[in-house]
Amino acid sequence: MEKQRWGDSPACPKCGGMDVYKMMSRQGGREKHNRWRCRDCSSLYSVRTGTVFEDSRIPMRHWCFGFWRAATSKKGVSALEIKRQTGLSYKSALFMMHRIRFAMAPDDGNPLTGIVEVDETYLGGKPRHPRDKRKAWSSKAPVMAMVERGGRVRSMVVPDVTAKTLKQAIRDNVDRRARIMTDEARQYRGIGPEFAGHDTVKHTAGEYVRGEVTTNTVEGYFSIVKRGLNGIYHSVSKKHLHRYMAEYEFRYNRRGMTDGERTVAAIQAADGKRLRYRDPVTSRGNVLPAQLQPDLR
Ligand SMILES: [Zn+2]
Repeated sequence: MEKQRWGDSPACPKCGGMDVYKMMSRQGGREKHNRWRCRDCSSLYSVRTGTVFEDSRIPMRHWCFGFWRAATSKKGVSALEIKRQTGLSYKSALFMMHRIRFAMAPDDGNPLTGIVEVDETYLGGKPRHPRDKRKAWSSKAPVMAMVERGGRVRSMVVPDVTAKTLKQAIRDNVDRRARIMTDEARQYRGIGPEFAGHDTVKHTAGEYVRGEVTTNTVEGYFSIVKRGLNGIYHSVSKKHLHRYMAEYEFRYNRRGMTDGERTVAAIQAADGKRLRYRDPVTSRGNVLPAQLQPDLR
């Protein structure tokens, strides 16, 4: 883990000093918490300092296992499964997996380019029993996804699906030189002039592909997420939905990597992501409504 995080230069996280050394125990070998000490500022630190592992008693081998499962399981991995496989309590397993999802949350906000397919759907909540005729929408949250054809996906929980919200999200995430493709939903009408163009497919008329105009990529992405949420997680509250979205997005955007590379990428993404309890964890700086703000306590 030290090698993955620091390479060959384990600089002091407090002052950046390079004059550091491994603390040893009296019996020889590393000190029991594997700490380092900085000669410049005298601070003690370990590989956990300044990451999602900080302030946790969960052994590092379980963290590594959790990262590997989260980075390599196509549909996701439930806390219950992690509990069974590690012996951690359910609460600890859930805590750990939420933090791993937080580490996977993207911070590269580079605009999407080329052809960008945009769509929205409702996700989360509990799957409805087939005989239950009541609407289950109230427990679901609106989610928007934008996918570069052949490239990256960016998804987010949005407060509503009004034209104002959806258009603003496109402006915040898509390069002006991109071509936007959506279905015929009226919320997207009029966005074309702000970009290189806007094409729509008319699903209501049975049209899904017209030349290169289609939203099949973004719809395919949503179907991966839906299969995972329904099959693995069963029930995801609005409050935590953005974390799960980050997890699916992370895997999709690194689909060309090997499992090992993707696991290391997730661990490295944990760097500098020490979760401060009081901060509302917003996706890409969007202010989430109060009911969507996380509570990890
Ligand atoms: Zn220092």
